[in-house]
Amino acid sequence: MSIHLSRGGALRRVVLSCDVAGCPIQLEPPATEAWRNDADARTWAREHAVGWTSDPIRQTDYCPGHAQFSTAPAAGVAPPRPTASVRDRSGNPLHRDEYADHLRGLLVDADRSGGRPLTLSAAQAAVAARLLDELAGVYRGEGLGALAQELSALLDGRD
Ligand SMILES: [Zn+2]
Repeated sequence: MSIHLSRGGALRRVVLSCDVAGCPIQLEPPATEAWRNDADARTWAREHAVGWTSDPIRQTDYCPGHAQFSTAPAAGVAPPRPTASVRDRSGNPLHRDEYADHLRGLLVDADRSGGRPLTLSAAQAAVAARLLDELAGVYRGEGLGALAQELSALLDGRD
């Protein structure tokens, strides 16, 4: 669910959050009168979110940067999966599946060349594993999520 309602005081607040996995963008349009019902408050907020789009069937919302995602992809066409922070030399996001393959390649190369071991404290390894678990949760069902899960298990000694 991408809209959160809270009923503090005389106004009803609605926070829109972008439904693209990993996108942290949220927007709180001006609060509506408390007497409006939830559905009406949601509609009102969507109408006042400049540049945002929504998909009424899936009940999802998209920030201006991801506005094109509200249009359902044609059958058989995989939706684009841009990386959230990694960029190529020209500053464009990478395709997440290709990026996951690239990272796996680095691991294979390191195995072959017997890369220099790195020592982490138990707490550092545990925290790194929890961060990877979070990443795996965001990109569940994708190559990047699977890679994060495997490395988390490795850090936990669960492999
Ligand atoms: Zn977004």
